Amino acid sequence: MEATKPVLLTVDDDPGVSRAVARDLRRRYGQDYRVVRAESGAQALEALREIKLRGDPVAVLLADYRMPEMSGLEFLEQAMDLFPNARRALLTAYADTDAAIQAINVIDLDHYLLKPWEPPGEKLYPVVDELIELWRDTGDEQAGATRVVGHRWSARSYEVRDFLARNSVSYRWLTADDPEGRRLLEAAGLDEAAVPLVVTPEGDTLVDPGTEELAARVGLPTTPATGFYDTVIVGGGPAGLGAAVYAASEGLRTVLVEREATGGQAGQSARIENYLGFPDGVSGVQLTDRARRQAGKFGAEVLTAATVTGLEARGSSRVVRFADGGEVAAHTVVLATGVSYHTLKVPGVAELTGRGVFYGSAATEAPACADEDVYVVGGANSAGQAAVFLSRHARRVTLLVRADSLERSMSHYLIRQIRDSANIQVRTNTEVVGVEGTEHLEGLRLCDTGSGNGNGKVEEVPAAFLFVFIGAAPCTDWLDEVVERDARGFVVTGPDLLRGGRRPRGWPLDRDPYYLEGSVPGVFAAGDARANSVKRVASAVGEGAMAIQLVHRYLEAQ
Ligand SMILES: Cc1cc2nc3c(=O)[nH]c(=O)nc-3n(C[C@H](O)[C@H](O)[C@H](O)COP(=O)(O)OP(=O)(O)OC[C@H]3O[C@@H](n4cnc5c(N)ncnc54)[C@H](O)[C@@H]3O)c2cc1C
Repeated sequence: MEATKPVLLTVDDDPGVSRAVARDLRRRYGQDYRVVRAESGAQALEALREIKLRGDPVAVLLADYRMPEMSGLEFLEQAMDLFPNARRALLTAYADTDAAIQAINVIDLDHYLLKPWEPPGEKLYPVVDELIELWRDTGDEQAGATRVVGHRWSARSYEVRDFLARNSVSYRWLTADDPEGRRLLEAAGLDEAAVPLVVTPEGDTLVDPGTEELAARVGLPTTPATGFYDTVIVGGGPAGLGAAVYAASEGLRTVLVEREATGGQAGQSARIENYLGFPDGVSGVQLTDRARRQAGKFGAEVLTAATVTGLEARGSSRVVRFADGGEVAAHTVVLATGVSYHTLKVPGVAELTGRGVFYGSAATEAPACADEDVYVVGGANSAGQAAVFLSRHARRVTLLVRADSLERSMSHYLIRQIRDSANIQVRTNTEVVGVEGTEHLEGLRLCDTGSGNGNGKVEEVPAAFLFVFIGAAPCTDWLDEVVERDARGFVVTGPDLLRGGRRPRGWPLDRDPYYLEGSVPGVFAAGDARANSVKRVASAVGEGAMAIQLVHRYLEAQ
């Protein structure tokens, strides 16, 4: 994006004067600053509201003192609410000098300039130079970006931020009671009830946007560019991204469809320590963001916020339907829909999700946990990783484990890291049986389920953050009656489809299904969604790559 120029704004009700000041300012500052001029206070404020929404900085405001309807003083006073760091000067005639001096006290005026300001090199520029210098010292130079204004404990605000973060869209987070958050709401003509408010770099405002609208407005593609592809990949986790990189790099027309954010579960992993080639570990967001860029570089289309709800074999085409009613066809489909987290079945937890209770979002929420005591539920690697990661931000992390030890469910390197962290405490034989809080999480009721004295005892603890990692189920309900799934919903592929050497019912070809092929020819599965798969990043990536080899084999035989 082109670097945004800070604004110098001048307002004077005399059009001739307004034009002349703007002309002189442009001559000297036009290369580095955008000069905006207005002919009334109201017009200037309108311009400032737009500039605020675009996220552009304002360096200097020059206002005529005597203007009908709104005086320069009144204008500057209101402009200060929008741009408190902009430096302010009044243009005055001799007769108003006293009033201008008074204004220095009232609105903290930086300067007054006497009309006429000719020659500008002597009278105007030295003053504006100084104002710019003063403004630079305020550190207010940052240019526009997507901004989100919301409430800390609003589930919707959290969802919007999480979506942007997981899709690597950089944004600035502002609470509605933060002065800059208030200014943005005011500039958009909205009140606090309108959050979450998203302001795009172009200055467009989106009030509580749905995922699809949000994706489209921040520049993430949500619909396919054409109607037919060699392969449609459903799911943008490691398996889907792996498939997309290999498919596109090998010349297949490829579209990847992801319902939320690319990265899948791996994108939620604070630190993946066991992925080949990263001896110091790598954050899931980093790894999957690179993969997405790599897929794009090779020409794969990557759609986000597009949920696939149906699959149909229409002749030799495989047709994938979207939740919004659209569809796309291809020779082949790779199912890489992974798994989703189990939710904690405790009364009150659903209402507090996003308001202190979080599933797999340690990375997004960690900064908010600074100096807090946080709780993590779960005994497997994902919970362990989250605990270690959060311990770098939080005052204390308590890992709540239902079993009597971590040894059977967690990798040894993580157990070691947990033991070595002074601020992580592990409570085994412990279950969350209740939560407190209405607006946001305030406390937990923890039950000691172990044998011995504590058995059955319920303890109440204050808590503002609870991160839950208690296993997952495959996202394959929409495939019911389309492809064969096992009792738990995982997609059955390859040799597992052969029962007593017999091919699956309805299988039309004179060959066995390929290794990752499902019960419909040309439909493959890769990663966690596949029955009997190894639930790891490396194996998901490997299966994605392997599925594309089989896609080639399938296409060659067509
Ligand atoms: C917190 C955490 C930490 C982990 N740490 C490690 C680790 O350190 N090392 C390791 O090897 N493994 C780790 N894992 C496991 C690893 O992340 C998974 O095995 C891996 O992500 C599986 O990849 P996948 O692509 O098969 O599925 P997923 O990562 O689950 O991705 C599936 C994607 O499909 C999308 N999707 C689902 N349904 C649809 C639909 N209908 N339409 C469109 N899109 C859909 C989902 O939104 C999701 O993005 C961790 C998992 C978690 C949760």
